[in-house]
Amino acid sequence: MDGKAISKEIQAEIAAEVATFTKQSGITPCLAAVLVGDDPASEVYVRNKHRACERVGIASQMHKLPASTTEEELLSLIDSLNQASDVHGILIQLPLPSGIDTLRVLDAVNPRKDVDAFHPENVGLISQGRPRFLPCTPHGVQQILDRCGVELSGKHAVIVGRSDIVGKPMSMLLTAKDSTRGPQAANATVTICHSRTRNLAEVCRSADVIIAAVGIANFVTVEMVKPGAVVVDVGINRTDEGLVGDVDFAAVSQIASQITPVPGGVGPLTVTMLMYNTFDAAKLLSS
Ligand code: NDP
Repeated sequence: MDGKAISKEIQAEIAAEVATFTKQSGITPCLAAVLVGDDPASEVYVRNKHRACERVGIASQMHKLPASTTEEELLSLIDSLNQASDVHGILIQLPLPSGIDTLRVLDAVNPRKDVDAFHPENVGLISQGRPRFLPCTPHGVQQILDRCGVELSGKHAVIVGRSDIVGKPMSMLLTAKDSTRGPQAANATVTICHSRTRNLAEVCRSADVIIAAVGIANFVTVEMVKPGAVVVDVGINRTDEGLVGDVDFAAVSQIASQITPVPGGVGPLTVTMLMYNTFDAAKLLSS
C-alpha cells in the first residue's frame, strides 16, 4: 500500500477544495506551528508540515521558541494564537522539553483550532461518534485502507499499541459506525493489545487486519500474521540500517495480502490529514 501516492492524491483533492473555498470566502486557511527547543527530528517534521501547507494552498506560521522557554511563556503564546482570527489551526510539536507540562499545554489549545485532535473535548466527541476533528495518524490509516480497497466492516482488526496518539483513537475510528470514507471503512471488531496482553502472537494471528503502533523495530514477525492478512505499520524506528517500522517487512510481506512500507507508508498520510483538519478548522471558524 503506497502511502506516498495516496497522500499525493488526497493533497490534490484538498488543494482543489481550498482554492475554491479561498476564492469564495476570501479566507486563506492558516496553520500555526509551535516548536520549542531544537530537537532535530521535530524540526524536520515541522518543515515537512510547512511544505505540505504550501502544496495545498494553506498559509503557515512557524513559532520557534528556545528550549529555555517557560510553561507560562508558552501558554501566553498559545493564548494569542487562540485569539488570532487569521489562525485556524494550532499545532504544538511534541515532544516538549522536560519541565513543561505537556497535557496542560495541549489542553490550553482552543478545541476549535485543535487540528491534532488531542484536546479532551475533541477526544470525547470522537468517542461519541460525532467527531469535530479526526486524529491525523489513525485517519491516515483509515484512508490508506479504504483507498486500497480493504473493507473493514465486520472484520477483525488487531491494534498493537494503546497510546493516546495512535492506538486508542485508532480503535475509536475503526469501531465507529461510519467514517469519512463511508461505513465500509469502519464497523470493525477491534482488539487492542499492549505490553500486558497475553498470547499476543495468537491474538495477532486471528486478525484480518493488523495495525502495529508499538515503537519497537521489527516487532511483528511472520509467525504473528495470518496468511492473507492486511498489515499496516505505523512504527518509525531509527536504527543503524536507517528508518524501519514495527513490522518485519521482508518476511511479513511474503504472506500478507497488502502491507504498508516504512518509510513511504503511514508517515506521509499523517501530514496530509493535518492539512485536511486545518482546512476543516478554517471552514468551522468561518461558518
Ligand atoms: P507509545 O510508546 O506511546 O505506545 C507504544 C504502545 O506499544 C504502548 O501502548 C505499549 O504498551 C505498546 N507496547 C510496547 N511494548 C509492547 C510489547 N512488548 N507488546 C505489546 N505492546 C507493547 O508510542 P506511539 O503510539 O506514540 O507510537 C508508536 C510508534 O508509531 C512509534 O514508532 C512512533 O514513532 C510511531 N508513530 C508514527 C507516526 C506516523 O506518522 N507514522 C505518528 C505517531 C507515531 P503499554 O501501553 O502497555 O506500555
